Amino acid sequence: MVDYYETLGVSKDASQEDIKRAYKKLAKQYHPDLNKSPDATDKFKQVNEAAAVLGDPEKRKQYDQFGSAGGQQFSGFDFRDFAAGSNFDDIFDSFFSGFGFGRRGNGRSGRDLVAEVTISLDDVAKGAVKDLHVSRHVACDTCRGKGGTDFTTCNTCQGQGVVRQARRTPFGVFATTTTCNACKGSGERAENVCKECDGDGVLVSREPLSVKIPAGIEDGMKLRLAGEGEAVKGGSAGDFYVVVHVENDERFVREGTDLLVVQPVSFVTACIGGEITVETLHGKKKVDIPSGTQNGAQIRLEGEGLPELRSKHKGDIVVNVNITLPKKVTKKQIELLKEFEKEGSKKWGLF
Ligand SMILES: [Zn+2]
Ligand SMILES: [Zn+2]
Repeated sequence: MVDYYETLGVSKDASQEDIKRAYKKLAKQYHPDLNKSPDATDKFKQVNEAAAVLGDPEKRKQYDQFGSAGGQQFSGFDFRDFAAGSNFDDIFDSFFSGFGFGRRGNGRSGRDLVAEVTISLDDVAKGAVKDLHVSRHVACDTCRGKGGTDFTTCNTCQGQGVVRQARRTPFGVFATTTTCNACKGSGERAENVCKECDGDGVLVSREPLSVKIPAGIEDGMKLRLAGEGEAVKGGSAGDFYVVVHVENDERFVREGTDLLVVQPVSFVTACIGGEITVETLHGKKKVDIPSGTQNGAQIRLEGEGLPELRSKHKGDIVVNVNITLPKKVTKKQIELLKEFEKEGSKKWGLF
């Protein structure tokens, strides 16, 4: 379970004032408009989530008692919930309008969505296309996201798209700005309301979202699909982020673009040289072993590794020779080995 107190860096008996102060500080620190580091957005969301619960005395009480709030289990922050449409953005908006932050950029834009996908090492080698099953709002085709035709200025918000009101929040009373309900924030109202979307300008889509995963991607990398996030009426859609996980592979250990493999080789083959069969990404491959190969020796199969992200360069397969000895020998073998040792020590001393 995520510890919200830890997220905000406050003690369990922190006052609402303390929580508010900690939240403001962290929110400023990780706000995506101010902090361009790659994990700022995630941090920012975690901080918001924690403050949404701890900042509300009722929810906080419930969280302290049950580790959950508002009927929702808080077992970590699940991106899939986020993508499936939680009311997180409402929390986000109400907090930020209170603290004088705007949403990113100018104009209205939908929120960003995040999903996770797990791929195999073979997908890393070749690149892959994955279908994500997400439900999101997309712009209505019929009215091109406008909600209708023949627009006049919304008289509820005088075309501002927002209405201001004094609002009681967990942190005191703030003059907050909320999206105008009458025009859903677009500032104008259609005389001819679109029938397809009921004037919303957006529709819920459950069409799978196809994601192209480039070859060479690494575990934990995030892809951004610009404009594939939530669509809003009369504004631009947010972005869709895909966090890519790479499954562990039983055959190889990945080291950047190289693939390491431990290969058992019989001591006889190591002594006299020969051929071994090595697993590669394209099936098994025969590899020559020179005579006198020592335990721990490395053999590189150049270009048999993984491609470098957005480059033509490919890594190697690195075969680590692991010389195996027989656990049991026959009488005949004992004779031969004694003979072998005698022959060797005559010439070179000990092996
Ligand atoms: Zn429409
Ligand atoms: Zn309005």
